[in-house]
Amino acid sequence: MRNKGKAIKDHTIAHLDHYLDMLSEKVEQNGGTVFFAENADEARQYITELADARNIKTVIKSKSMVSEEMSLAESLNDSGFEAVETDLGEYIIQLAGESPYHLIAPAVHKSRKDVAELLDKDFTDGDRVPDATELTMLAREQLRDVFARADMSVTGVNFAVAESGSIVLVTNEGNGRMSTSVPRVHVAVMGMEKIVPSIQDLSTMLRILIRSATGQRISTYVTMVNGPKTPEEEEGPDEFHLVIMNNGRHKLLSDPQLRESLNCIRCGACLNACPVYRKVGGHAYGWVYPGPIGAIVTPVMTGLKDASNLPAASSLCGACHDACPVKINIPRMLLELRYKTAEGSTDPKERTSTFTERVIWKLWRIGMMSRRRFDWGARIAYLLMRPISLKGWIKKAPPPISGWTLTRDFPLIARQSLKSRLSHRSKKEIS
Ligand code: SF4
Repeated sequence: MRNKGKAIKDHTIAHLDHYLDMLSEKVEQNGGTVFFAENADEARQYITELADARNIKTVIKSKSMVSEEMSLAESLNDSGFEAVETDLGEYIIQLAGESPYHLIAPAVHKSRKDVAELLDKDFTDGDRVPDATELTMLAREQLRDVFARADMSVTGVNFAVAESGSIVLVTNEGNGRMSTSVPRVHVAVMGMEKIVPSIQDLSTMLRILIRSATGQRISTYVTMVNGPKTPEEEEGPDEFHLVIMNNGRHKLLSDPQLRESLNCIRCGACLNACPVYRKVGGHAYGWVYPGPIGAIVTPVMTGLKDASNLPAASSLCGACHDACPVKINIPRMLLELRYKTAEGSTDPKERTSTFTERVIWKLWRIGMMSRRRFDWGARIAYLLMRPISLKGWIKKAPPPISGWTLTRDFPLIARQSLKSRLSHRSKKEIS
């Protein structure tokens, strides 16, 4: 199944322009409108102008990481519309004024008490904390009214099928189906990589996504939208718009070493497997996409200079690669990005390593290329470091390693290499 999923994604990304043309043609044949947005500003502007032109008051949103890229809910609220998240996790973090903590479970870091405080204005410390069902019913009550008055919806897209022009939403709460059928205008937003060629490919990718995301065989709802309602249909939107966003994805596409990251189906399995994510949490990644896949896409999409520490936030243990249902080799790409951030190979202005660092690593490389040079280098380093060490540790080092000892001690280099110690020992043992 993983091989099949990888093959579908590899093929699609290799022929992305062809399938994007096919998708846009089909959506328009089905009565929808397609807008290609170069960046988040263009996408936001298109949606805001559309809402203005249609005299929209209330916009409901279902879960969409692409809409997070454009901070859409905040922007619509700032422009005078009422924009409300309808996915339960997203609703909770909207009330908290935070960004998603996890790709699949945006509010996984909140306790029941935190959620009660956000949902129930009358909740005070010392009150009985409602259970999960009670909290869900509370949110449901609040959101029902919003659904009823909404005149526009913005949803994400889990997959877009090129051959039929359908967009597919995978949810467990039913908010996706309400969002795509109740309001009179439906806008779906997707990254340009969220495409699959055919319905047959969709069935494979759906199974892969749902199993890896939530461990279910199939989610409670799988909603397929084929454009606005037809004259024979009673329900559905009068208008359907598909916004396909680039927002830096072309940089991943044009780099053969990083292109594989566009195979990501945002299942979140690599986050669950990652020991670093589990320790630091989703907000530490600083932008929309947390975890191992975020450490690749964020630096490229937002600029290497602004997120240069992300590729280093990994132990390279490979758990993400093992967990990924489309076999994305995340550790390989993290190493590639570490190289690019250090050397600024995509843009010299983005180089993050200092001159001293580069000299040290060049000398290190020269030393490591020859046994004799390595031994001499180690001996010289030992002689230089010994006077400033105490019980095998340097607590305050001079430049260029002074930065290291600001927060931790530096170990004194061994007087003798392991190889020479072992050879002395075996000589003694023989004699
Ligand atoms: S990189 Fe793989 S495991 Fe991680 S979110 Fe994407 S598809 Fe899922």
